[in-house]
Amino acid sequence: MAIKSNDIRIREWISGSPIVVEQNTLLIDAVKAMANHGIGALLICEGEKLVGIFTERDMFKCFINFSEKTLNAPVSGFMTKNPITAQLDEDYNTVYIKMKTHNIRHIPILDNGKLVGIVSIRDLLRYYHNKLETEVLNATKEIDKLEHLVQITEDDRINVLVNEIKKYEELSLTDPLTELYNKRYFQNRLTEEVARCQRYKTKLSLIFADIDNFKKINDHYGHEMGDHLLKGISQRLIGEIGELSVISRLRRSDIVARYGGEEFVVILPETGKEGSLIVAERLRNVIGDSPFSLENGPIWITMSFGVAELPHDAQDASGLIKKADTAMYNAKKQGKNRVMIANQ
Ligand code: GH3
Ligand code: MG
Ligand code: MG
Repeated sequence: MAIKSNDIRIREWISGSPIVVEQNTLLIDAVKAMANHGIGALLICEGEKLVGIFTERDMFKCFINFSEKTLNAPVSGFMTKNPITAQLDEDYNTVYIKMKTHNIRHIPILDNGKLVGIVSIRDLLRYYHNKLETEVLNATKEIDKLEHLVQITEDDRINVLVNEIKKYEELSLTDPLTELYNKRYFQNRLTEEVARCQRYKTKLSLIFADIDNFKKINDHYGHEMGDHLLKGISQRLIGEIGELSVISRLRRSDIVARYGGEEFVVILPETGKEGSLIVAERLRNVIGDSPFSLENGPIWITMSFGVAELPHDAQDASGLIKKADTAMYNAKKQGKNRVMIANQ
């Protein structure tokens, strides 16, 4: 049986009973409770209602203005109020992406508004790995069974393995060739970021990028060399994005993904057009300023970029993709190797 990450429901890996305390619990008692249970987060309730979460991260913050009084103050003064929650019937992907997007390690689980448990990112990854291991084991058993029944050929064996690999690709969040995030992850993540942007009334930009004349390159050097170039191009893109997020450390991290064959997308949370235009120009330069080395010598590559901004150019994720794609298409029409802004 194939497992898909959206088949794995959260109810399957939820941690038993979460440790819950009242708002007026003293900080010292809250910390003791965490230490005694060996847990990284406490849920804070007012009666039945979840009002906050107190995590290790909140605990570190307590030490900034630490005094004797701190330990005897109510934990509610240090907790994270109105925490992000997940529903019992949500699936692996949705919850995992929610946790990544909000940069949290623990998420309380509700069922019809009632608190039923907590999931940590560690539980989630552990569960996922166990599930994968079981699948591999089952696949191996299937092959052994087949071998007993008939003399299976090398082709059959390869087919079974190819099918297995396909299953894991479906589960994966990354593209196997370039190791960038894949389209599925990008789409889920963009939906989350758009919701966040609308909730907090911030900006969000999307860069759509496409390699210039890649077909000619493939035709001239062969598909294998084309793949090799795709990897090199991806590495330069991710290098530039990584460097940028270190410089602007306070900003939420930018995401680069492979959208299709030789198309890439970059999500820039909390960034307007001016900022994303600078990023796109840097990406254009990092690709075009120096050649890529191939067996038969250096090769120069250029890329075309389109930039669109939410809420200025679009109202939702698919509108934003369309606008950035159209801007990229305009860059192609204007002669390639350039950045164009939506509605320009
Ligand atoms: P343009 O500047 O207008 O974008 O021209 P182009 O040739 O890049 O555009 P087009 O869309 O016509 O062709 C894209 C080519 O990219 C087609 C295909 O040969 C190549 N391609 C797509 N995915 C892959 C891949 O995974 N590996 C390799 N090697 N080539 C790919
Ligand atoms: Mg293309
Ligand atoms: Mg192209």
